[in-house]
Amino acid sequence: MKQPVIVIGAGWSGLTAALALAERGEPVIVLEAAPISGGRARSIDHGGRIHDNGQHLLLCACTRVIERITRLGLDPEQAFLRLPLRLRMHRPAAECLELGTSRRPWPLHLIEGLVRARGIALPERFAFAACLPDILFNTPSEESTVQEWLDGLAQPPSLCRRLWHALCVSALNTDPEQASARLFARVLRETFRPPARRADLWIPRRPLSAIFPEPAVHRIRRLGGQVRFRHRAVALEARAGQWRVQCRNGARLEGRIILATPPWSAARLLAGIPGTGALCRRLERLVPSPITTLWLEYPEPPPLPAPLIGLEAAPYQFVFDHTPLGARGRLALVASGPAANRALDAMDSPARRAHALLRERCTGWPATEPVAWQVRERRATFLATPEAERARPGADCGLPGLMLAGDWTATSLPATLESAVRSGETAAELAYRQRPV
Ligand SMILES: Cc1cc2nc3c(=O)[nH]c(=O)nc-3n(C[C@H](O)[C@H](O)[C@H](O)COP(=O)(O)OP(=O)(O)OC[C@H]3O[C@@H](n4cnc5c(N)ncnc54)[C@H](O)[C@@H]3O)c2cc1C
Repeated sequence: MKQPVIVIGAGWSGLTAALALAERGEPVIVLEAAPISGGRARSIDHGGRIHDNGQHLLLCACTRVIERITRLGLDPEQAFLRLPLRLRMHRPAAECLELGTSRRPWPLHLIEGLVRARGIALPERFAFAACLPDILFNTPSEESTVQEWLDGLAQPPSLCRRLWHALCVSALNTDPEQASARLFARVLRETFRPPARRADLWIPRRPLSAIFPEPAVHRIRRLGGQVRFRHRAVALEARAGQWRVQCRNGARLEGRIILATPPWSAARLLAGIPGTGALCRRLERLVPSPITTLWLEYPEPPPLPAPLIGLEAAPYQFVFDHTPLGARGRLALVASGPAANRALDAMDSPARRAHALLRERCTGWPATEPVAWQVRERRATFLATPEAERARPGADCGLPGLMLAGDWTATSLPATLESAVRSGETAAELAYRQRPV
């Protein structure tokens, strides 16, 4: 019997890798430490309320995710609410800032969006328009942070505060003073490249687990592969180009390996294996960054002006309205990045404060306090600093028979579902090319 490819981790990257290999007839075994699939993008049953471990949103050319979901037989336009990119930033006691793209073809969608923008003074509008060619055609230096880059592009502090900072921290889960300008510029360029509809936002209508992880597990099994839950890999060993995995429950397997865990778990598994010293030192430079999602449930749908709004100067940068997604009265408030999460830690009752904030910023908000629960993912993504960008390894780590996958590998995207899926495809291709003939 052919030796299997052992995929360690059943997150979106590992499942993509396993699917891609199983579709090509390769024997695959997925080992997952948890009792369910999905990793950092999974659904949770919270006392009968099914919701995700964190509110997710796809943006900027999420082509591989859409393709993978389609291949599993789901219609992405059913699975997601697809919206034109439109930001509506609510601020205390002032007109909100509204900026977005229109439904015209590229680049008219950007020009019209800018002309129709609201709550943005003329100098800010000019400064924004003037930096667009830079965003589309120039690459920031490898060393610079987003804040340094914005300063270099002469972006007024008011526009940074009201728009750029929220965009940066939401896209990179990293505060602008620390975030890699090069990575942020790449996200913007991917978003604003033609065709115009690349800029669309995709908000899940269904629990994330039902969109990809669960259908992927079923398909892998139907294709003859195995997915074993509660199988935590605790040791790896290389012998004459052959890899062996030892699991905590005593299981042992041999074959090529795709290591699709987060970088901190990967570093633990690789430590001590001859030839991995430099790689482990790179992984140590990937440090975690948190995201908190506060779920609020009102007895009646509150009057949110759009499915997605921003809150300026609040720890929660964005609010998602789940009523148009099918969960009546439910909102998800997202606080990304270290600074916002530190601010939440300093608050007495974040849910009460959030309710008060929404009453203050949105007209006609109900007085009744909502049911509230919060999920904090302390290791939601890696902190996307210039140093981390340099440290991200490729799928090919130089050790025959061992491939890396995960949103943290060098995909040229931030830690996102798209990055995870692309990394899984790359690792699968490498593993396929290394099959014994
Ligand atoms: C709260 C939150 C909000 C987010 N928002 C967005 C968003 O809006 N848009 C977006 O695109 N992305 C978002 N992300 C990021 C996205 O979820 C991740 O990029 C993606 O899920 C990473 O997938 P992965 O397969 O690379 O890693 P993971 O999902 O971490 O998968 C790794 C798997 O490996 C398993 N594992 C670890 N160690 C072992 C071991 N020793 N043995 C066996 N198994 C092991 C883990 O249990 C896990 O299932 C968000 C993440 C969080 C947490």
